Amino acid sequence: MQYRRLGKSGLKVSELSLGSWVTFHNQVDYDKAKNLMTLAYDAGVNFFDNAEAYASGQAEVIMGKVLRDTNWGRDSYIVSSKVFWGGQKATQRGLSRKHVRDACDAALKRLGVDYLDLYYCHRPDPTTPVEETVRAMHELIMQGKVLYWGTSEWSAQQIFEAHGIAREFHLTPPTMEQPQYNMFHRERFEAEYARVFSELGYGATIWSPLASGILSGKYNVGIPPESRMTLKGYEWLRGELESPEGQMRLMKVRELEKLTRELGMSMAQMAIAFCLKNRNVSSVILGASRPEQLMETLKATELVTRMDDKVLDVIEGILQNKPIDPNAPM
Ligand code: NDP
Repeated sequence: MQYRRLGKSGLKVSELSLGSWVTFHNQVDYDKAKNLMTLAYDAGVNFFDNAEAYASGQAEVIMGKVLRDTNWGRDSYIVSSKVFWGGQKATQRGLSRKHVRDACDAALKRLGVDYLDLYYCHRPDPTTPVEETVRAMHELIMQGKVLYWGTSEWSAQQIFEAHGIAREFHLTPPTMEQPQYNMFHRERFEAEYARVFSELGYGATIWSPLASGILSGKYNVGIPPESRMTLKGYEWLRGELESPEGQMRLMKVRELEKLTRELGMSMAQMAIAFCLKNRNVSSVILGASRPEQLMETLKATELVTRMDDKVLDVIEGILQNKPIDPNAPM
């Protein structure tokens, strides 16, 4: 396992990490979660990602129990939470000072830790002034409940606004983003965020590197039973897969798969290695419902060197979606 700095901070995060969205509580019970987290930790993973929204807090309850039972040193791992989708009541959602504080306290309790290493605003909240959220996050940091705070799926403009406010009032600025990034979803990460990385030194923990499993190639010949696309509540994902755009993506995955055979790696490994090639990525957050999946994707870290410029050119030829680099000379 390699470790990368989280942006310009001193925190060294494993380039592959493990998240709990969809899986923990829904597909993966406590024993399975313990097995997956142990497999990851033993392979050098030091970051476990979570959110108040995941399984309505139950993903954090499971992760917290694993962290307690394994007894790993608190100084040996990084754990996150995210605030935005708490309960249904008006005060239980969004990024108001009240909810940011209540959600942090609740996450600490569920996870059974004294502090969160990383705390993200899961989405921007147009109904709360950014200054209120920046102050609320700053206070949590001053109280020692959070070490680093960041955003998830905020526009570059919103991130710069939060930075400007932090600078003006001498508050702690956000230092990291959690955006979606994968072979199909590149525009924001590679183009819109260019200045966020170069000027603000942001770190990035990226999500859905397999586009919810599509980039593993397993949907190339239909929808396997027990896969994410068959889960109740995720019909929208299946709808996306079955749309004309989704079918076009599958055609590309079939093309990419031919290349993986020449390279001696699986489709999932190539998709993860593609993300790792981007130096603005601090950590690729993996998801897994089964240990075999994780054993496969964790190996991607050893395969990145096979992705040379020639291979990347072939991939670009298949994907046909390379964003225009805003820093490129005219
Ligand atoms: P992926 O796109 O990598 O999808 C993971 C899923 O793909 C697995 O649960 C499994 O699904 C399938 N899979 C994984 N490995 C393999 C394999 N080797 N072969 C076949 N199938 C495989 O990542 P996620 O969408 O799960 O996102 C990862 C993490 O990112 C989340 O857990 C969460 O922590 C974070 N996240 C953050 C978001 C945000 O808004 N900030 C949003 C979404 C995620 P199955 O077995 O069920 O088919």
